[in-house]
Amino acid sequence: MEQIIWFDVCAVILVALLLVLYYKKFSAPFQKYTLFLVLLWLNLISAITSLASFVLPGHAPVWVLRLLNALYFFAHGATPTALFLYVCSLTDYNLTHFHQLSAWLVPTVINTILSVLSIFFDIYFQLDPDGTYHRGPLIFIIYIFTCFHFFAIIYTLIQNHSLIPRLEQLSIHLFLVFMVSAIFIQLLFPNLVIESFICACCLMVSQLTVQNPEQIIDAPTRILNKSGFSYLLVPPLSDRKDFQVGFMILDNYYALEKVLGFDILEQRIQTFADYLRTNTGCLFARVENRRFCFVSQGFQDNGTVDAVLSKLREACTARQAKYPAPARMQFKCGILRCPRDASSFTELMSLLDIAAQTSGSENACFTRLDDGDVAKLRRYKQVDQLVQTAVEDGSLYVMYQPIYCTENHRFCSAEALLRMRSKALGEISPAEFIPIAERNGAILKMTQFVLETVCRFLRTSGIQEYGIRRVDINLSTLDCTQTDISQRILNCIRENNLLPSLVSVELTETAFSSLPESINRTLTALSREGVRVLIDDYGTGYSNLSRLTRFPLDIVKIDKSLITDIPGSATARIVLDNTLEMMKRLRKKVLVEGVETQEQLDYLLPRNDCSYIQGYYFAKPMSEEELVALFRDQHSRSCSPSPDAASC
Ligand code: C2E
Ligand code: CA
Ligand code: CA
Repeated sequence: MEQIIWFDVCAVILVALLLVLYYKKFSAPFQKYTLFLVLLWLNLISAITSLASFVLPGHAPVWVLRLLNALYFFAHGATPTALFLYVCSLTDYNLTHFHQLSAWLVPTVINTILSVLSIFFDIYFQLDPDGTYHRGPLIFIIYIFTCFHFFAIIYTLIQNHSLIPRLEQLSIHLFLVFMVSAIFIQLLFPNLVIESFICACCLMVSQLTVQNPEQIIDAPTRILNKSGFSYLLVPPLSDRKDFQVGFMILDNYYALEKVLGFDILEQRIQTFADYLRTNTGCLFARVENRRFCFVSQGFQDNGTVDAVLSKLREACTARQAKYPAPARMQFKCGILRCPRDASSFTELMSLLDIAAQTSGSENACFTRLDDGDVAKLRRYKQVDQLVQTAVEDGSLYVMYQPIYCTENHRFCSAEALLRMRSKALGEISPAEFIPIAERNGAILKMTQFVLETVCRFLRTSGIQEYGIRRVDINLSTLDCTQTDISQRILNCIRENNLLPSLVSVELTETAFSSLPESINRTLTALSREGVRVLIDDYGTGYSNLSRLTRFPLDIVKIDKSLITDIPGSATARIVLDNTLEMMKRLRKKVLVEGVETQEQLDYLLPRNDCSYIQGYYFAKPMSEEELVALFRDQHSRSCSPSPDAASC
């Protein structure tokens, strides 16, 4: 008889250890973890009270024993309920719709009442005058309730099998099998008190596997990581609850890594995270090595997030002052409102990406992005979304800016310029949407769209008959990294039965210098087939001149910034003169962009070293029809009986 208590002794020790582990390392701010904690406590209560009811008879008054037994039955009956709630919490991460579960809790309420009444009446148990335990007349109720909850658990598991991770499903099934076996064994052999011990073993296995929060906790700082934060935000986002997310981006993370070294920097971040955890009362997450987010407890929108940011500003400024300037952390912070700014976790993270790319004020420890800045982030996000489906949505179209040839004083070619018009935002400038499309990769589809539009235009509009020599298409850096880019261009030209010389490509000076040497092969292949390659925006980047000369470039487009101050500024004249002189010596043809005034034209034309001119002085970008009309008029003028007719 004495030996039977050892199961309970082991259960008490085991659960106590699990509780210590839980508080030290295995807790996380989710209901799943809280309910697991409840299970641990219930198991501890069961084990201790069970142990006490064996050890104490004869040593303690009967009313104490009645109290302990009642407590045992309460904990015993509440365990399947807690397990059921735990399983429910796995299906929506946070039991947001708790009220829908209230019907399932009726048995627990009845069990609690019966347990309390058992202190006074022989319901679940009977005690001899010396305190010896006997089963009570209504003990079967507790088994009915247990069965009820076990079936509810199995039903929930089956209903939500796609929502609950496999490992967690397996651990719960095992839990059920072991618990049912333990209950039967204990029913058949009342002296073999193993229920608490088996339950403790199951909890231990769960804690070390599915309850291990490593996947949702950032190991160095012990705050939530990105997955943990995403779990946390699932319920409020799916309920479209209004709440605020504060963010802090350590702007100079990589610079600090170089100055301090990785280990010291991580230590400083740990200290910072400790401060956040203990001083703010908010839930913090490290969603990327240099990005932190936080929400107020319960997602209350009562100014907490704003107050925390103000507090952090003071704390950061005071703490960072003790370090020399290069070793100071520089944060960029702000508040995003859900669902106004972001209605999903992915959107929230993409806004943070954008925020991380915007520059904070230099050398300030704490830059607070205001509502205007956040509005810009929102606009970026809107354009980002539009850009991704722009080709399919039909919101893109191409305009053409004519290019003037100084040799024969006629328009000879045009540059294709992409335009975007959306219902929501109206006309969006390429200066805004092209960089976004380059960042999210949509530029590839856009380039293909421009290519197809231009080729179709050249084939069907009849403009070739009016003397157009070529149309230039802009390529982005990303396009040039595609191994099949030259093939795609050539295919499109062939499919439209065009001469390759009718299409040319422009690549910016910056892109050209940043691309690997292998791009030379792609562009040389195009050039060999007759597709001209132009260097765009020359004078805005840092060209590797030797590379430029080695490459068979046909035309160099001088950027408009080099012509803006011509002829007024002497410095601008020196820069432009020398650039044109150098290109002449290198035997490169030159196109000057951005010519707007008669004076600029008068400066360029007599020099004879600029073959082409493009600018508002001659024409702004225009539609296909307008371009055809321009070339048709030019053609008919030159064909009319005049001394110039020979050029027709
Ligand atoms: P870009 O390739 O340098 O194109 C010339 C830009 O200068 C055009 O602006 C044109 O409208 C403008 N421009 C032309 N003449 C003048 C002038 O006399 N004065 C002034 N102030 N501006 C003039 P746009 O159309 O707004 O395009 C801006 C940039 O967007 C382009 O610069 C190019 O980098 C990019 N872009 C446009 N279309 C495409 C495209 O299809 N693909 C790619 N990758 N980029 C494109
Ligand atoms: Ca261009
Ligand atoms: Ca340009």
